[in-house]
Parts: sequence; C-alpha cells; structure tokens
Amino acid sequence: MAAILFDGAAIARQTYARLAERIHALGQRGIQPGLAAVLLGDSPVSQIYVRNKVRACVAAGLHSEVRKLDADCSEDALLTTIDQLNRSKRIHGIIVQLPLPSHLDAKRILQSVAVEKDVDGFSWHNLGALVEGHPTLVPCTPLGVMIMLDHAGITIEGRHAVVVGRSNIVGKPMALLLIARGATVTVCNSKTQDLGKYTAMADILIAAAGKPRLVTGEMVKTGAAIIDVGINRLPEGKLVGDVDFESVESRASWISPVPGGVGPMTVAMLIANTVTAAEHHVGQSRI
Ligand code: NAD
Repeated sequence: MAAILFDGAAIARQTYARLAERIHALGQRGIQPGLAAVLLGDSPVSQIYVRNKVRACVAAGLHSEVRKLDADCSEDALLTTIDQLNRSKRIHGIIVQLPLPSHLDAKRILQSVAVEKDVDGFSWHNLGALVEGHPTLVPCTPLGVMIMLDHAGITIEGRHAVVVGRSNIVGKPMALLLIARGATVTVCNSKTQDLGKYTAMADILIAAAGKPRLVTGEMVKTGAAIIDVGINRLPEGKLVGDVDFESVESRASWISPVPGGVGPMTVAMLIANTVTAAEHHVGQSRI
C-alpha cells in the first residue's frame, strides 16, 4: 500500500491561519511583527530563499526588510548591519541567509544576532535551551518537522527515530527535539558505516544529508514514517530529496514529498518564531 503524504503546504496554511490570531492580537497593541533578512552577494539560490521568506511575511501581515550587502563586504560592515537591526524597534526577528562567503567568520556573525531576535534559533543561548529541554526560539526546519509528525498523529514517545545528518541547523536540533519528546534517537553522519543498518531500525526516519536519493526502499522499515528534509538539484534541473521516493513510498506508512514537504513548513516556522519574538518584546511570551 502506498504511503500517506505529509502535505507540508497544507499544514503550513493551517499554521498561518492560527498565527493570524496572534498577529491580530499584537496589532491591537500597536505591534506589527517585523523580520529582517541579511543577504550577502547575488547567489540566485539565496535570493530565492529570501524572496520566499519576504513573500510569506507580506502574506501573513508582517513587516519585512532585506539588507543587501556585497559578497566581499567586510566582517565589520556586516556586524554593523546586524547591530543596527538588533537595536531597531521595527524588527523582532533577524536572519542571516546562509551560506556566508568563506572570508567571514560565520560563527561570530551568527552569534552577533540578539538572542531575543534569533528567529533561526542558531544562537548558543537558544541552542543551549534546547539541549536543556526548554525550547525557546528553535531552528525552523526541525520545528516544522515536529509539527508535521504531530499533525499526522504519529507517536514519538518510545519510538526509534533515526536522523541522517548532524548539522547544527537541521540534524542536531532535530535529534534534540525528538529526545525531548521521549524518542530513542540515533544520529548518523557521513562517516557512519552501513547506513542502511540504522535506517532500517527507524520507526521515524528524518533524512537531512543533502545527498540525492541516499535512502532507498530496502533501507527502510515497513510502516515507517519518513520525512525528507533534503533539497538537491540534479544536473538536469530536477529537484529531489535525500529519499528515493519511488522505492520508499511503497514500504513507508507516511512520507514527505520534495518539493512540497518540509520546505513550506520551514518558512511557516520562521514566521511563527518572528511572532513569538514580537510577543516576547511586549512581555507576552518567554524566550
Ligand atoms: P549539511 O551539509 O550542513 O549537513 C549534512 C549532514 O549530513 C552532515 O552532518 C553529514 O555528515 C551528513 N551526511 C552527508 N552524507 C551522508 C551520508 N552518506 N550518510 C549519512 N550522513 C551523511 O546540510 P544541512 O544544512 O543539514 O542540510 C541538509 C539537507 O537539507 C540539504 O539538502 C539542504 O538543502 C536541506 N535543507 C532543507 C531545508 C528545508 O526547508 N526543506 C532546510 C534546511 C536544509
């Protein structure tokens, strides 16, 4: 039997509908949540990501700003821009579009975003809160995955979840969120020997390696829930995930498509985090 699709776009629409009430309540207090994106250089991919985020802001009724800097800008210039945004009253959330050019110290840049405006959840404060099991502003992609699992009614507690990928942006926070909900979690990486041995044990499998069609049908357990975070463009231009959809969907109980799965949820969670940050600004939520 074919797996049921996680419809990320539909779940994102429901998320926006729920957020509308919170945005309205803030509006009554004279606050319009504002998100600023800092974009370096003219990478078409980064421009598309930022454009999608700006569109989502506009559609949700948020204020948005894009600060564009040259790809060869100095670290000081970038830090000054972030400092201005940290102090701006119109801005409640700041994102620095990744990847950054290699001459910049990405760690220093990301940690310069004010903790209470860190809507990507990359600051050590917010990551530390996640480690401790008290999530504040949580990285958007893993947060979106948790909402997709909950929306489908998938039990997390007591299940074996396998996360393929250990990046600070996706894999590690994903594992922490699953641990906080009582899953037994295995985290794989590029050095993992015999990946299929681990993926085949997963009740819940999250693929976030950035390797096209890495996970194939014989690597997954029958009835598993599969979430494909990967976005890979093949040489012929087609967009595929880290999961070989055709061979996996007949074994899985649930599967997320690429595109249309995790992607829309990531953007929705960015808007949600910005609303949370704005609520925090008026003392309505704790970060
Ligand atoms: P990354 O390159 O920072 O990390 C990839 C991780 O995968 C690393 O930890 C690496 O060790 C691991 N890995 C690589 N090859 C592996 C293999 N053969 N077996 C096991 N592990 C392996 O990437 P990232 O930023 O975490 O993103 C991962 C993927 O998710 C990319 O395709 C990215 O485009 C996509 N992504 C999608 C969204 C979304 O909204 N859908 C958001 C963020 C990232």
